[in-house]
Amino acid sequence: MAEATVFERIIRGEIPCHRVYEDDRVLAFLDVAPQSRGHLLVVPKEAKATIGELSDESAAALGRALPRLARALARAVGTPHLNVLQNNGAPAGQTVHHVHFHLIPRFGPAGAAGSGLQVAWKPGALGAREGAETAAAIAEEVARDADA
Ligand code: 5GP
Repeated sequence: MAEATVFERIIRGEIPCHRVYEDDRVLAFLDVAPQSRGHLLVVPKEAKATIGELSDESAAALGRALPRLARALARAVGTPHLNVLQNNGAPAGQTVHHVHFHLIPRFGPAGAAGSGLQVAWKPGALGAREGAETAAAIAEEVARDADA
């Protein structure tokens, strides 16, 4: 069996955390190395590494908790601006291989110390043919998943 991740150990209470919310399926706590004040991690209790592996029950519980936590965080830290980041796999920047959503408040102008996540966004250009082919391929897989 794979070794428990740090988030499994936090869920079990073996490692302390600054907990802000818990229900049967979800736990939210402060990131130990925050990008900005209030940086939250929202995790399912189900031990899966990536988002596509999650059960519908965990997904629904996360979907319910995330907007509530975003509202609470905004009120608590005094800014409505935040980034939601969810990394899947080491190439995508995931370091803890247990699903988690980062809620990272943004304060003031980008680049200031503690202002929040800096995103290097490099827009491409979607061609008509590529768009049609890629959308069709994904839609086919969505339909296959729905049939399962
Ligand atoms: P990832 O890069 O996998 O998306 O993010 C993992 C996050 O988990 C990082 O932001 C890191 O600071 C946080 N983290 C790692 N270990 C611990 C821990 O023991 N406690 C808490 N609260 N956060 C942790």
